[in-house]
Formats: sequence, C-alpha cells, structure tokens
Amino acid sequence: MAVHFHEEDLPGDVFAPGAAIAVDTETMGLITPRDRLCLVQLSDGSGDEHLVRFNPGSDYAAPVLRAVLADPARVKLYHFARFDIAAIRHYLGVVAAPVYCTKTASRLVRTYTDRHGLKELVRELLGQDISKQQQSSDWGGPELSEAQRDYAASDVRFLHRLRDELDRRLAREGRTGLAQACFDFLPARAELDLAGWPEVDIFAHV
Ligand code: MN
Repeated sequence: MAVHFHEEDLPGDVFAPGAAIAVDTETMGLITPRDRLCLVQLSDGSGDEHLVRFNPGSDYAAPVLRAVLADPARVKLYHFARFDIAAIRHYLGVVAAPVYCTKTASRLVRTYTDRHGLKELVRELLGQDISKQQQSSDWGGPELSEAQRDYAASDVRFLHRLRDELDRRLAREGRTGLAQACFDFLPARAELDLAGWPEVDIFAHV
C-alpha cells in the first residue's frame, strides 16, 4: 500500500485493466469556474492511491488521466460525484462516466439518518476512522504536506469497499435500479451546475 504522487498527468498503465476507479478532486473552493482544480486522486482498489497535482496556469492536457476518466469500460466511483464530475468536465474537458456515487447510494438506503458524509459512511459501514482535518486546506501551493497527501489519498481509499456494502443494501431494499438511474443522471446534473442551474431544482413545481 503506497501513495504515488505525480505532476500534471498519470504515468501510463498504473491501473488493473477494466477495474473500477475511485476518483476524488481537490480544488481551491466550491465555485467550479472560479476555483481551479488542484489535485485528482485515483485508486483501482488494489491498495495504492495515485495523486495528480496541477500547477497554477496548467493547460490540463493530461492525456493519460483524461483517457482513464473518459473510458466507458471503467466505472468511476465517487463520494458526491456531482461536484467532481463538474470540476473534471470544466478543467479536463471530459465526462468522467459511467458513475457510481456512494453519497447518492447512501441517501437511498440509509434513510434512518441524514448523515451521509464520507467519514460517517466509512465509520458505520467499514468500522474505520478517517480524518477530515485537511478538507478545507490550501490545495494550491507548490508543496503538499504529508498530512494533505494522506488525507487526499484516504478520500479514494475506501470507495470500492463502500460500494460493495452499499450494493448489498440497495439490493436488500429493492432500490438497485433506482440507484443506477440516479448515477446515470449525474453527468447531466453536473452539466446543469456548470450551465447556470446550480441551486435550482428543475423538477420542482415552483
Ligand atoms: Mn477530497
């Protein structure tokens, strides 16, 4: 198990062929067109995490990373896919699908709680503790601290195992198909965010 750090792109062939890829992003903030993409974290579930850092003024060319993200044969696992898909679409110019979102799945099966954060999910479903201390740190600097790298890697470390447990619960509750329909809609939901409907529910009556 190791955390691998890269600048501006992934090296070729770091992932098992066809494996689902856990994906997370760190940005300068929550307003996607304003707050640049600083880091993309990825894992194929084998125990290693890969961090790809982008410099200020990057052209985000990243051909290897973009090919992995756009690969229709690789499911991308996220926690709150809506944000990461929008950031990836805006900066890297690809739709990072097909999608699985652990937060969306959690909302569909853990109806006994309103706590759907990653830390809470990992604690309840996997019995492990992760720190969210670096969540609101400065991801734009030339050096990422050890604590930042550890935190960034931990955000993709558990998504495969969470998917396995959430899939069991979705099947148990008869919501597998509904979850898949929601996952399939997430790229369009991210596009609506970018196109000017970030807070509006276009399905609402008023
Ligand atoms: Mn993160």
